[in-house]
Amino acid sequence: METMTEEKEEVKSFKDLGICDQLIEACDNLGWRNPTKIQLEAMPHALEGKDLIGLAQTGSGKTGAFALPILQALLESSQKSVQPFFACVLSPTRELAIQIAEQFEALGSGIGLRCGVLVGGVDMVQQSLILAKRPHIVVATPGRLLDHLTNTKGFSLRTLKYLVLDEADRLLNEEFEKSLDEILNVIPRDRKTYLFSATMTKKVKKLQRACLRNPVKIEAASKYSTVDTLKQQYLFVPSKHKDCYLVYLLTEMSGSTAMVFTRTCDATSFLALVLRNLGLRAIPINGHMSQPKRLGALNKFKAGECNVLICTDVASRGLDIPSVDMVINYDIPSNSKVRSTIFVGIHAGILSVPCLDLGRTARAGRSGVAISLVNQYELEWYLQIENLIGKKLPEFPAQEEEVLLLLDPVIDAKRISHAKLKESGVKKRRGGDDDEDDVEKYLGFKHKKSKKMG
Ligand code: AMP
Repeated sequence: METMTEEKEEVKSFKDLGICDQLIEACDNLGWRNPTKIQLEAMPHALEGKDLIGLAQTGSGKTGAFALPILQALLESSQKSVQPFFACVLSPTRELAIQIAEQFEALGSGIGLRCGVLVGGVDMVQQSLILAKRPHIVVATPGRLLDHLTNTKGFSLRTLKYLVLDEADRLLNEEFEKSLDEILNVIPRDRKTYLFSATMTKKVKKLQRACLRNPVKIEAASKYSTVDTLKQQYLFVPSKHKDCYLVYLLTEMSGSTAMVFTRTCDATSFLALVLRNLGLRAIPINGHMSQPKRLGALNKFKAGECNVLICTDVASRGLDIPSVDMVINYDIPSNSKVRSTIFVGIHAGILSVPCLDLGRTARAGRSGVAISLVNQYELEWYLQIENLIGKKLPEFPAQEEEVLLLLDPVIDAKRISHAKLKESGVKKRRGGDDDEDDVEKYLGFKHKKSKKMG
């Protein structure tokens, strides 16, 4: 395998890389003046027709790195207008799939590009209508794509020229592995394959051997010197006062954008409600929410209407959020795999909680902070993390007296939130409809069951 290092050529513009004028204009319209590092390194090889393996995270511009060469190949193809199912991009999450499709659509708006998204949580029939229009690009999650390949009459990927496996490390999770194998079995072998992953795991290596041909390897992530701009700290807190510490951190940093990671979906909903009762602009995003609600929450956060996004690691990976000032790990993940992905990711500046776009926060002259709240029960997991990253993190200097001043309002907010959730549960059981105060309407999620917080 060839390995490409950044010391090579100093190419600056999209034109220098061989991107055609139509696409340069599209980049320009998106405000992309020059290629990002991953684009600089990947695109010349992609345009030469090589398979690629890219180690890069969301936020690096990797979507452009694979989308532009694919679009250019489509433009160069003599049967452009009748070239259905030219490329397929597989993503582990629905949101990421939608974001990828949005970038394709934006880049392809001037060339009549048709792009279809196939993700779960959306009506199959509606999606089969999109397939009937024979899009050039299909962006999909593996399960739903397989569902259509199996059940949608007349749909196949026989004409496929490009396959992209985005966030391949996650596509190889147990939940996708089987669908992925089946998909690989039914698509043409004679194609270009691009594999992007935040980390190089054994499974990714295996997949690379199985489905790429003499790929060029590009590592943009490890070259980022952004770690220094991210302050990582921990804060030991008694379990019963964890909420208080969270509120304290958020009010200390008021006006900043923050993502708060919790272990469970229920915790995201409950915490968001508590924080909103305290006047903070928080919104949850979790796997219990319907797809439109998840997107709605994400858009509210992106638009600045809410500045605190409360999410589970699973719901949040791969989201393209322009800049976040603070990441709070409200729970230390009990699952060692999640622990290592999140924390090693953060440490390497990769942030597999990929939302803290360090490049951008740094450009804006701010620096990111990642604070982990560790209680007495999580201490052992936390020490494992320190071992994993081979470094002891500094403690966040919290003023305990100030934190405890928040105790009464936080207890009140929790009581009100519990009551609201209970009330909304009763209303639902009675078949009552929404009123303005309905929790579901208020927070934009379907609450399953309230959970007492540790
Ligand atoms: P991605 O890593 O593909 O999720 O991209 C992250 C963000 O970077 C997206 O909002 C893109 O619109 C943006 N982006 C991609 N390429 C460029 C570029 N060359 N210049 C400026 N922004 C870019």
